[in-house]
Amino acid sequence: MSSVRLATTKVGTRKSDIHLTYKAPTMSSTTTTANTDTVILGAGIIGVSTAYYLSLSSSSEIHLIDPSPTLFWSASGFAGGFLARNWFAPEVSSLGALSFAEHARLASAHDGRRNWSYAPSTSLGYSAVAADKGVKKRGDDWLRSGTSRAEAAPELPVLSVEDLKKKTPAWLKRREGDDVEVIGGEGDAAQLEPERLCRFLLSEAEGRGVKVSQGAEAVEVLRDGPERVVSSVRLRDVKTGEEREVKCSRIIITAGCWSGHVWEKLFGATSPTVKRLPVTSLAGHSLVVKSPRWAGAVDGEGCHAVYTSHDVFCPEIFSRVGGQIYFAGLNSAAVPLPNVAEGSKVRSESMELVKQAARELLGSGDDEEDDLEVVREGLCFRPLTPWGLPIVARVPDEHLGGGIQTKPGAEGGVFLATGHGPWGISMSLGTGIVMSELVQGRPLSADISALGFEKVIGKAD
Ligand SMILES: Cc1cc2nc3c(=O)[nH]c(=O)nc-3n(C[C@H](O)[C@H](O)[C@H](O)COP(=O)(O)OP(=O)(O)OC[C@H]3O[C@@H](n4cnc5c(N)ncnc54)[C@H](O)[C@@H]3O)c2cc1C
Repeated sequence: MSSVRLATTKVGTRKSDIHLTYKAPTMSSTTTTANTDTVILGAGIIGVSTAYYLSLSSSSEIHLIDPSPTLFWSASGFAGGFLARNWFAPEVSSLGALSFAEHARLASAHDGRRNWSYAPSTSLGYSAVAADKGVKKRGDDWLRSGTSRAEAAPELPVLSVEDLKKKTPAWLKRREGDDVEVIGGEGDAAQLEPERLCRFLLSEAEGRGVKVSQGAEAVEVLRDGPERVVSSVRLRDVKTGEEREVKCSRIIITAGCWSGHVWEKLFGATSPTVKRLPVTSLAGHSLVVKSPRWAGAVDGEGCHAVYTSHDVFCPEIFSRVGGQIYFAGLNSAAVPLPNVAEGSKVRSESMELVKQAARELLGSGDDEEDDLEVVREGLCFRPLTPWGLPIVARVPDEHLGGGIQTKPGAEGGVFLATGHGPWGISMSLGTGIVMSELVQGRPLSADISALGFEKVIGKAD
């Protein structure tokens, strides 16, 4: 198991940042027949969210391209779906708050509870053995950039033993001498089923005319006119090798851990500054189970997120609205990224460790009797940057190299939205909103000034 420190902390959330909400702009009334079409490379949650919001406000064509024959066989399909309002570093606090508010708005507008199991959640830290409070290792520490709970604790109300008991889920096996504490404020967390949210966003986007090409990848950027500006991409069918061109003036790379592959294929050879993108992967195994002690949320209330530590790894456990429990936390940077998302194969020895921990923490009785029903097993990969923040930015033309130019301002450009690490589901809707605004040259709903392309330069070569 390996752990990485990602920039995620409560410190620095500004009050003015946390009430951001999104109002869909009116559809652009541009009458120009010029090509301002968009190709989005990668149909995980960041790609489909970008397509969803862009299709709300742009009348030009949008193409979503993904080489995987099955969509959402990636982190966006296998993630836990935990959403936080303010567990983030200052650089992403504005994006995180926008996203959290938008998750609530979208769920309320489209019956998110029924359609993608959206629900508020109570976050708990659990220690099977009460340790020295001063040095206790917590299961959620790696999400918080190494900050200790002691820093955050004063912000939370102190609960009576009775209240704490009420907030502790019946599906969590309690032991003599263990320790539970509430680690998130009221209204600061929620959860959902990521794949179902992805499918909702995709189907709405398709309903508004977004064209999806599965099993295809972009192999070349083509240019046209006296200025030789980007005018289309050449797509290749991964099975048949058949090629075709798709017109576009904007290219948005949203390929998660594979964003580096896309960059290398399209721009790596020509870029004078960035041959390789510094986006790596952190694999995670996960398990979805049913327990006789969790029948599902009543009126959307009663879901929990439990962060704990275990002999081998730090389990994250989420009870979902529909009666399932998601169990993950066994991560490794050593598991190689498959060429195609669909190629991810669960490793049986890792899965056995996850199941063993699930039995210990969720099983019934002292003998860890296994009355849990396995619904599905999963392996997927988080996209990471070395500095722990996503890249959400336009790539200045000079870094594309080879004389590649894009149309200026809102008419064209090459963009990146990747590297969301352990927070891509939480940040997804905010990222989709700001990407749609960025590419159209509209005012931005969140401050992404610290997520620019300049951090990339000189980092991976
Ligand atoms: C075990 C686990 C649990 C997690 N739990 C949570 C959680 O509770 N909350 C949270 O906020 N986040 C969570 N995350 C993180 C979150 O899942 C990711 O940050 C997020 O899904 C990344 O989305 P993405 O769209 O960038 O990438 P992905 O979902 O990986 O999608 C990338 C897409 O790009 C496609 N692609 C590959 N090659 C190409 C190519 N050449 N051209 C075009 N497309 C290509 C792939 O097929 C895939 O469809 C978790 C991650 C893991 C691993």
